[in-house]
Amino acid sequence: AFPCYDEPSFKATFDITLRRPKAYRSWSNTKLKSSDATVNIENYMDDVFYTTPVMSTYLIAIIVAEYKSLEDNAIPQQLKYEVIARPDAIDNGQGQYAYDVGQKLLAEMSDHTGLDFYEVDANLKMTQAAIPDFSAGAMENWGLLTYREAYLMYDEKQTNYNSKQLIAYILSHEIAHMWFGNLVTCDWWDVLWLNEGFARYYQYFLTNAVETEMGFETRFITEQVHTALLADAANNPHPLTNPGVGSPAQVSGMFSTLSYNKGASLIRMTEHLLGYNVHREGLRKYISDFKFKTALPINLFESLEAAAKEAGALAEYGPNFSLVEYYKSWTEQGSAPVLFVEVNHQTGDMTVTQQRFNINTGMSTSNSLWIVPVSFATASKPDFTNTKPTHILSATANVIPRGSQGDEWVIFNIQQTGYYRVNYDSYTWDLIIRALRGEDRIKIHPYNRAQIVND
Ligand SMILES: [Zn+2]
Repeated sequence: AFPCYDEPSFKATFDITLRRPKAYRSWSNTKLKSSDATVNIENYMDDVFYTTPVMSTYLIAIIVAEYKSLEDNAIPQQLKYEVIARPDAIDNGQGQYAYDVGQKLLAEMSDHTGLDFYEVDANLKMTQAAIPDFSAGAMENWGLLTYREAYLMYDEKQTNYNSKQLIAYILSHEIAHMWFGNLVTCDWWDVLWLNEGFARYYQYFLTNAVETEMGFETRFITEQVHTALLADAANNPHPLTNPGVGSPAQVSGMFSTLSYNKGASLIRMTEHLLGYNVHREGLRKYISDFKFKTALPINLFESLEAAAKEAGALAEYGPNFSLVEYYKSWTEQGSAPVLFVEVNHQTGDMTVTQQRFNINTGMSTSNSLWIVPVSFATASKPDFTNTKPTHILSATANVIPRGSQGDEWVIFNIQQTGYYRVNYDSYTWDLIIRALRGEDRIKIHPYNRAQIVND
């Protein structure tokens, strides 16, 4: 540790020199510039590192260890990517998987953000370090990422498939932080979700883009959306944007299921609202406008809204729909709504009301309102592939035409891209139950079957 103003918004460059015993090696955030014998002290070396990019203090890292690198023969000034660990682990080839998949993930994320990791700052390189006895799971120090050994080292004979998936998705999480967290940093810990929501989101979807067989898109539903909805159903869940966080204990409290899982779930909901390409365009704008700075949620919302307007991605929701107000309604209050869908099967009119869901009482009497993007499929139109919402609900009660008359099931929240629960009148539940017990079952998307069980 060193004396500093240890807050994310006090960004600075750092020139780091490490003095270490000759038998050891040292690492820091940037490439090694020079290594010379210490003047007047025998058997010591002074390692000088290149100046860091403008960065927050919490991302500084130094390692002095008897470690080996998978890139031991690289010229230090030209080093790009390496995995370092105990010599035994490296000699046994346990760093190879992190070496291979990590570079693919880094390239994919560079492409996705439109900003190549190695072009962000010429002094940066990427070191993945396996640390024995590391209390956190992993840490995204810029250019010197640290992991528990079991979360980075892979042994073909010893590591099971589940642990291999773990390595892949933790690498993704930390690599995503190079952009979301390190380059663009949350202004204060009360908006930590700007860092961790994105890291958690890419933990699944970046991994899914590279390790396509691992099923991370599917796992997201039960592991992130469902767990977030449960945490949000408590009596007093904190809003994602939570002004008033000051003490170290309050800061620690922000590293919560909600900041991570709910943050990621809202990002996914917004991705499906805007469409993948428009969403990515908005994120690219956000990164390019706020790189080397800190950001507030409004900066993210406005970047996305600008991209959406340019592409006309929200035109179908009318002139009154505001993406900024939508995102605020989900991030500035705690909890999530349950939609109650009451179908008039004669006319096909569906009355949809929203209420805050509470796990203890079922529904809360508080009159919270969300701006809810909804989608639905029916027995006669069982299209579960188009996740673009067809309607936006902003009032307590809303009437939506189902588009058909007579008895048939309707299921809201296609692929559970929306962050809310759904309940139905008992007659409609009976129709859904009959469908789930009959041949129609396979027409209903597996994510929606999981959703129905969880809701
Ligand atoms: Zn993280």
